[in-house]
Amino acid sequence: MNDLKEEVIKFTQKLNSTNLSPLRSGNVSVRTTKDGVEGFLITPSGKKYESLKSEDIVFLELNKEYDLLKMFNSSLNPSSEWRFHQDIYLKKKEAKAIVHAHSPHATAVSTHGKAIPAFHYMIALAGGDDIKCAEYGTFGTKELSKNILNALEKRKACLMSNHGQVAFGLNLKQAFELAEEVENICHQYIIALKLGQPKILSFAEMQKILEKIKNYKKG
Ligand code: 13P
Ligand code: ZN
Repeated sequence: MNDLKEEVIKFTQKLNSTNLSPLRSGNVSVRTTKDGVEGFLITPSGKKYESLKSEDIVFLELNKEYDLLKMFNSSLNPSSEWRFHQDIYLKKKEAKAIVHAHSPHATAVSTHGKAIPAFHYMIALAGGDDIKCAEYGTFGTKELSKNILNALEKRKACLMSNHGQVAFGLNLKQAFELAEEVENICHQYIIALKLGQPKILSFAEMQKILEKIKNYKKG
């Protein structure tokens, strides 16, 4: 458990060092069990990442309905976004780790509330022929969580309107790398839009890419 907490801290601090999410923005979690109970480890709320300690990382149960008021009055201080982490783990068996970031380019694109079309074939890394943008919801709410789950249908990453992005993977490294890829794609998309409307790859081409990309990432 402690090793996994240290891994969560390592990737959370990487949010800062790679400029994917400054200060205390974003959050990171990983699926695990504690005393046989299914759950996940998640970063604390509102703590600067540089000062994170192993005891700050919170274990939450997967199938427990947490009472917000009780949680507020207890010593538990999980990320304010624990709901969408819990809901993603409940809905997506393949999600083993989640990274949420306020990365600059993804956040800028998210303010338009639109999906990113297949202007580049690497869009396929998120699992489909576009990257959806979840409708806006206040941070930490069930509504936001519902909107994210909609945008993640058949996808491993999505934008969150006027907020940022979220990505999941089979482990922390994979989830983090996908968040980096999404940020890079958004950066490229912003540059492409400066030149006018980019050409969009056809549905048929993207189906080919989606097949091909399954064998692409090796290391
Ligand atoms: P927390 O510090 O509560 O995780 O909040 C950061 C964030 O990005 C909220 O959306
Ligand atoms: Zn956020």
